[in-house]
Amino acid sequence: MKSGMLCGEAVFEAIQAGVEKGGDIAVARVTEGEDFFEKELTSYTDKFDNSWLKEELYNSRNFGPAMHKFGQWFGGAFNFIDQNVFKVPFTLHDLVPDFSALKTVDAATFKPNYPKPDGKLTFDRLSSVFVSNTVHEENQPAHLKLTNPDIPVNVNLPKWDEPAQRYCPAGVYEIMENDDGSKRFQINAANCVHCKTCDIKDPSQNITWVTPEGGGGPNYPNM
Ligand code: SF4
Repeated sequence: MKSGMLCGEAVFEAIQAGVEKGGDIAVARVTEGEDFFEKELTSYTDKFDNSWLKEELYNSRNFGPAMHKFGQWFGGAFNFIDQNVFKVPFTLHDLVPDFSALKTVDAATFKPNYPKPDGKLTFDRLSSVFVSNTVHEENQPAHLKLTNPDIPVNVNLPKWDEPAQRYCPAGVYEIMENDDGSKRFQINAANCVHCKTCDIKDPSQNITWVTPEGGGGPNYPNM
């Protein structure tokens, strides 16, 4: 959110500078040349470098890699020391892409058995999507694109039990059964809350999230 705010400020200032310099943006582009906005928008980098956001992200850069390399307990201890006792002077790197670390169905021994949502402290996915006020324009092109539409059922389902059914926080992806008993992959794109997990996590790297038309998406009230 903060990076989006900084970006908005940089764009606003660039437009304002264009208005001041030439009366309007078109005139500024003519008088300053085609690289006008490129030149003006470098202020975004400066704004980011000078914000608390950069410091906060830098200080937590080792969190994920430490958990992956050292495990829950040692990684947790490392992170506690790094963030609360003294800053370690080096950066851990996590070179394994998230999508390639997923265990296959055969290798997964842990079968989680989470309690059902109680409607007080815990809620089911679709009621959480409802409070996000997610809206997409009707009839727009799908913003979740499959490179190969056969992969979810033919590859992901037998190998990983199609994890999109579970990692998507909005229940967008479902495996449905046809009348003849065959399976099909259903995408309820209108529910998407734009977290982009599917783009990153799909083990076959078959899903691409693109920006939806019309500025649709979640719209959390009072934020
Ligand atoms: S972007 Fe997030 S909410 Fe949207 S389909 Fe992908 S995983 Fe689901």
